[in-house]
Amino acid sequence: MPAIWDLLDFDSHEAVHVFDDRATGLKAIIAVHSTHLGPAAGGTRFWHYAEPQAAVTDALRLSRGMSYKNAMAGLSAGGGKAVILANPARTKPQDMLDAFARAVDSLGGKYITAQDVGMSEGDMVSLSKVTSHVAGLPGQGGDPGPYTARGVFLGVQAAAKHALGTDDMLGVHVAIQGVGSVGGGLARYLADHGAKLTLADVDAQRAADLAVELGGNSVAATEIMNVEADIFSPCALGAILTEASVSALKVRAVAGGANNQLATGHEGRMLADRSILYAPDYVVNAGGIINVLRHIENADDAEINRRINAIPERLAAIWAESDLGGKTPAEVADNMAQKLIGR
Ligand code: NAD
Repeated sequence: MPAIWDLLDFDSHEAVHVFDDRATGLKAIIAVHSTHLGPAAGGTRFWHYAEPQAAVTDALRLSRGMSYKNAMAGLSAGGGKAVILANPARTKPQDMLDAFARAVDSLGGKYITAQDVGMSEGDMVSLSKVTSHVAGLPGQGGDPGPYTARGVFLGVQAAAKHALGTDDMLGVHVAIQGVGSVGGGLARYLADHGAKLTLADVDAQRAADLAVELGGNSVAATEIMNVEADIFSPCALGAILTEASVSALKVRAVAGGANNQLATGHEGRMLADRSILYAPDYVVNAGGIINVLRHIENADDAEINRRINAIPERLAAIWAESDLGGKTPAEVADNMAQKLIGR
């Protein structure tokens, strides 16, 4: 097995902290990719991994992703991520959570945590009793979904402007994959602006009910990437843009909230070759993390909204550079992010 700094995903992490608290059973990793722009901000994931090595890979990838996302959102925050290795039964005893909170606290504010998969708002409140380095608590913006949804709406509108030549969404057909917190919020914004909607969710009833409420259509989850539309908006899972799915797309642009949409990274080139505009996911879905400014900079609603409103501008700059230089939007975004974090 390679040493940690030889792993493909290590990418010069500033630090990777490993915690093994025998008394409580806590096994956790806190990966700090970069503090160039400020304390490393990123959520804590509580997940059962079949192999511990997969937890290391996840922490490293997610942490680097947060560096890029936070930098491109103009935050005074670096990027990091914590992973707690759950047992197969996924039990989360209080003394283990307390031990994790002490682990976060031991980094002295170099890492600020927030909610991610497997952690509840209640868990965050519990961590905050032990460490002050917790963002997104109730009363501090809480659920990031609505902020993310607004940013994604602005990203979809920016994609319409660049790919279709209009940011008037009246009659623009958007196919949305996943209508949960982000996709459902996006659908409502789009409906308010007169867009034509096709919705899908593995919970087919959820998509059908929302389609009835908003006056759109719903299709089976397996069909949504074959729908002929103006824009495809992935708002469910990552890695949905594969060689096969990209060749099947019948849209002019892809812009959505899901994390890590490109399965291997090469699909960015395939989209460009098919003249399908791609809105880099971590630029589009930054609304939720922008909300941590409340914690880092004591920012108010007006400031949070101002930063979210800058998402279209950032996308326009990426697409302009991509149009000029022949790099894909994903490559341009990665390069811009790397420069911002001093790499
Ligand atoms: P959510 O759990 O509220 O909603 C996801 C929805 O997708 C659910 O309704 C689920 O049934 C559906 N779904 C799952 N698999 C599907 C499939 N194969 N096809 C169609 N639908 C499917 O989650 P969310 O908070 O809305 O997040 C959606 C995506 O956005 C995730 O990739 C998440 O990582 C990303 N994201 C969310 C936020 C946030 O603030 N919530 C921020 C950044 C990125």
